[in-house]
Amino acid sequence: MTELEALYEQIRRCNKCRLAQSRTEAVPGSGPAHADIMFVGEAPGFHEDQQGLPFVGAAGQFLETLLASIGLSRNQVYIANVIKCRPPSNRDPQSDELEACRPYLDKQIELIKPRMIVTLGRFSMQLAFPGVSISRVHGKPKKVGDIIYYPMFHPAAALHQARYRADIEQDMLKIPQILSEAQAMDAEDRGAPPAQQLSLF
Ligand code: URA
Repeated sequence: MTELEALYEQIRRCNKCRLAQSRTEAVPGSGPAHADIMFVGEAPGFHEDQQGLPFVGAAGQFLETLLASIGLSRNQVYIANVIKCRPPSNRDPQSDELEACRPYLDKQIELIKPRMIVTLGRFSMQLAFPGVSISRVHGKPKKVGDIIYYPMFHPAAALHQARYRADIEQDMLKIPQILSEAQAMDAEDRGAPPAQQLSLF
């Protein structure tokens, strides 16, 4: 069993907060063990709780459409949530639940080592942009250590509200350029000649 699979087992057996009592299935995450891009949402909803997989309901379908707009499919990226079990009636996660679950996401990040973490919605945005408004920072990458954090609106919000939908679609389209600029910056750090016009950082 790999370390990531062992982590999934631990999450499936987790009893650290009250959500363990009401969940059907815990939802550890899905995708390649060494994906370049990791998407982090909020918490499983009804369908995710039934299937044990992240983003398989309406928001997930929209996420797949957004991924297709940059030539990617869901099995090329890693997808997880800050909370691994569904909160009853899809209520907001509570602070002690977020705290109890956080070590699982930290471990996923440590094992997968993504170059870029795309946060979906205001809960996962706290990973790198604590206390700021999502309306102000969405679509603006920020490098923390070796990882580029990139905040976007949550697809469930964007699906039904036109003002967020245009933003999330445009923010998604910027991802390939952000990744290739990051690669150019890494190459420069290793002594390659400077790339031209690094504009996004
Ligand atoms: N919304 C989320 O934040 N995560 C899911 O997995 C599904 C819907």
